[in-house]
Amino acid sequence: MTVAIPAVRSRDDAEFRSAVREWCREHVPPDWRTTQSGASDTTFVDFQKNWFATLRGAGYAVPHWPAEWGGGMSVDDQIVLYQELAAHDAPRLVLPFVSIHHAASTLLAAGTEEQRRRHLPAILDGQIWCQGFSEPGAGSDMAALTTSARRTGDVYVVNGQKVWASGAMHADWCLLLARTDPNAPKRQGISYFLLDMSTPGVDVRPIRQATGESHFCEIFLDDVEIPATALVGPENDGWRVAQETLGAERGMTMLELAERLGHGGFPWLVDLCARSGPDGERPLDDPRVADRLAALETEITGLRLLCADFVAGGRGPADASVVKLYYSEVLQRVTDFGAEIGGLDAQTRLRKPLSSGWESGNWVLDFIGSWEWTIPGGTSEIQRTIIGERGLGLPREPKGS
Ligand SMILES: Cc1cc2nc3c(=O)[nH]c(=O)nc-3n(C[C@H](O)[C@H](O)[C@H](O)COP(=O)(O)OP(=O)(O)OC[C@H]3O[C@@H](n4cnc5c(N)ncnc54)[C@H](O)[C@@H]3O)c2cc1C
Repeated sequence: MTVAIPAVRSRDDAEFRSAVREWCREHVPPDWRTTQSGASDTTFVDFQKNWFATLRGAGYAVPHWPAEWGGGMSVDDQIVLYQELAAHDAPRLVLPFVSIHHAASTLLAAGTEEQRRRHLPAILDGQIWCQGFSEPGAGSDMAALTTSARRTGDVYVVNGQKVWASGAMHADWCLLLARTDPNAPKRQGISYFLLDMSTPGVDVRPIRQATGESHFCEIFLDDVEIPATALVGPENDGWRVAQETLGAERGMTMLELAERLGHGGFPWLVDLCARSGPDGERPLDDPRVADRLAALETEITGLRLLCADFVAGGRGPADASVVKLYYSEVLQRVTDFGAEIGGLDAQTRLRKPLSSGWESGNWVLDFIGSWEWTIPGGTSEIQRTIIGERGLGLPREPKGS
C-alpha cells in the first residue's frame, strides 16, 4: 500500500531528492537485515564502519556538521536525506551515533581549536566515542557523581566507576565527567575530559542484558592519567559543557529519528494494517484501526515539525526536552500498536538485526526497545521537570546543594 507522507518543510529540492534516491538505490546494502541478524560483534563493527565510510564518500555521514568540518547541509536537505534513507530502509549509524552527535556537538561548542582539529577529522575517519556520565549513584542526579580527577603537574589522575556507557566496548575515546573539586557545591566542582580509552587503568566490562545483547558497559578507572590538554572548557566548569552534550542528545539527534518514524516505521504500520489475515479480513477495514492510524499519523507529523523547527533554530530553554520527551512517547505508541496488530507473529519472531535501532522489523522487540528512549539523556520524569521549571517557569523542585 502506498502511503502519502506529508512534507514538513515548504522547500523540497527535487534535484537533491532524486540524487539521494539514486544514490540509495545503488549503495544501500539490500541484504543487511539478514547479514546483521545474529552477527558477531566484529561483523557488526566492520559493517557499521563500512557503511559510515560509504555515507561519508557521498557527503551524507555528518550533514549536520558545519561546512568547514565536512557537513553544511541545510535543514531542508537533511530532512530530504533522512527521508530517503528511511524510505530505502538504509541501516542506521548505531555505532558512530555518540561520535557524530554528542562528541562533535560538544567539541564544536566548547572544545579548543586544537581539540576540534584533532578529533573531528578522526571521527570522519571512523573514530568511535562513548559517553561516561552516569555512575552507579549518579544517573538522574548526575551532579552526585563521585569519580575524581586530581591534577598532578600536566595530568589529571582519575579514579572511579561509570555505568551504562553505550558502545564503550568498541570506543576509542570517551566523553568523561569527573569531580575536580570535592569541596565545591555539587555542580561547580565537575570537569569535562576527553579520555583515550587505550590509557592504562581503563577497564571496560560489557553488561549482558535480558535480551542477550550487550549494548552498554561499566567503565572502571584506576589511576588513569589524562593530559591537562584534554580538559574541555575551564576546570570545574564541566556541568555547563555537559549541557551542550545533553542538548545534542535530547534535540539534534531527533531530526533523523523522527523522519525515520515518518518514512520508515509509520508506512510499515500502515502496511501491516492493510495485510489480509487468514480469514481474508484486513485490520484497516475496522474503523477503530483507521482512527488509530490517523491519530498516530497526526502525532508523527507534529513530531517531525517540532524537530525541524528545533534544528532550524529559535530554541527555547526547554525545547530539546520537549522534542526528546515527545519522540519517546510517540515511538512507544507506534510500536505498541504494531505489536497489537502484529498478533502472534509479532510475538514469536524475535530476531533483531544488530545494525537497527528500534526499527528491527519485529514489533514486540521494537516496542520493548522504544522504552530505552525514555531513559538516556535524562528520563521522561526529568524532562518534564525541565519543561516545567525552565520552559513554563513553574516553581523549582527542591534540590540539594
Ligand atoms: C539505552 C540507554 C543508553 C544509555 N547510554 C548511556 C551512555 O552512553 N552514557 C551514560 O553516561 N549513560 C547512559 N545511560 C544511562 C542514563 O543516562 C541513566 O540511566 C539515566 O540518566 C537515569 O539514571 P538512573 O538509571 O541512575 O536512574 P535513577 O536516577 O535512579 O532514576 C530512577 C527513576 O526515578 C526517577 N527519578 C529520579 N529522580 C527524579 C526526580 N528528581 N524527579 C522525578 N523522578 C525522578 C527517574 O525518572 C527514574 O524513573 C543510558 C541508559 C539507557 C537506558
